[in-house]
Amino acid sequence: MLAESVIIPRNDHCLSRSMIDENSLKVLYRLRKRGFKSYLVGGSVRDLLLGRQPKDFDVGTDATPEQVRKLFRNCRLIGRRFRLAHIMFGRHELIEVATFRRKPDPDEIPDPGEGISHFAENVFGTPQEDAFRRDFTINALFYNIEDFSIVDYVGGLQDLHDGVIRVIGDPCERFGEDPVRMLRALEFAARLGFELDDAIPPAIERCGELIAAAAPARIREELMELFRHKVAGQVLQKADRYGLLEYLIPDFTAERDNFDLLRQLDMRTASGVPVRECVALAVMYLGPFVEQSQAEMTLGDVHKLANQLLVGHCRYFSIANGIKHQARELLIGFFRFHCGRGRRGEQRFLRHPSTAEAFELYRLWCEALDGERDLLESWQRALDGEEPSREPAKRKRRPRRRRKKPAAETTTDDSPSVAVDD
Ligand code: ATP
Ligand code: MG
Repeated sequence: MLAESVIIPRNDHCLSRSMIDENSLKVLYRLRKRGFKSYLVGGSVRDLLLGRQPKDFDVGTDATPEQVRKLFRNCRLIGRRFRLAHIMFGRHELIEVATFRRKPDPDEIPDPGEGISHFAENVFGTPQEDAFRRDFTINALFYNIEDFSIVDYVGGLQDLHDGVIRVIGDPCERFGEDPVRMLRALEFAARLGFELDDAIPPAIERCGELIAAAAPARIREELMELFRHKVAGQVLQKADRYGLLEYLIPDFTAERDNFDLLRQLDMRTASGVPVRECVALAVMYLGPFVEQSQAEMTLGDVHKLANQLLVGHCRYFSIANGIKHQARELLIGFFRFHCGRGRRGEQRFLRHPSTAEAFELYRLWCEALDGERDLLESWQRALDGEEPSREPAKRKRRPRRRRKKPAAETTTDDSPSVAVDD
């Protein structure tokens, strides 16, 4: 049995139309005018009620994707797994319109076969059924454009007020349907500063291993969300505590230092520096890299070590070679900084295109683990050009040789140019 809805009239809540993006309002009104139900749904309602700026505004309706397409010239239908309408405004803004869905009854689902693998995700339903198929109560609130009320079928308003992440229905059952919800529970708790409902940690402990079967592309995207929302350190540490991490990122070593480094990166992101995937990767594998590298290693060996640490992760998540390559360059550059001043080829290393970013990685490491302040400052002075070059004589003696490859493309090939041990 589904619960009764609670309708909070316009005067009893704080969400007003002035907070809603203009184009989303246009979409909401046009659907409504053509006789369809038209709600603002999901994260945007949650965020507006919390006084936060939503990332995007999603619309829910009882119009089918085809009906939506006919209503908007600037509309295209997307998604195989989950069929949706995207309405474009200009080149950069898009409003997502989803038809209300429900969970199909088991006897409705056709036998497995060609072309019906996404049947279960595309059975249309009522707004109430749509609320119940969502993940957490705070993500299942609706704003009805007809009378500006909030519609709450799942107790989301109370949880929003209390600061609680609660799964709709039985956590184990819902995590079994879609194991990525376990990661999302930890993510929303960290992002919003909410507590997990008591039933969630034991359910993650029981169902954690199921996440190994989730599509790596989805996990990769959710992981990057953690970095963008500056909660990677906190969430991955929680995932470790509840036994989820080893199934989530099989190659990641769960050590205190690694989480401290991730938290430091989150702080840097919070200060306004956008995080790129190669940096996230380099930070994730920096702990084991430092542990396994030694000052007397050749750059060729350092290159191999960095590769070994990154290759499993990149293969598992189908991360492009270019990103892996950038992460590896960062680790190799870090190694140079960590090994100290005065090595051969230092001036050339300081001018290398990837050196500035590797220095940021080194700074992050020093700040997170409270190390090597004097060396950090000394490198900073050298990078700022505040000290005389140590190698003018060497450069004079050497005949100039033309490079065949652009510097950013080189790795082992240019090892001698930045080698510390030759
Ligand atoms: P944000 O976009 O700020 O990260 P959001 O709540 O909008 O947060 P989305 O990933 O954009 O999150 O998803 C939109 C909505 O779709 C969610 O609010 C939730 O209601 C529903 N949803 C998303 N993922 C799932 C899932 N795995 N299971 C059930 N419902 C989901
Ligand atoms: Mg969203």
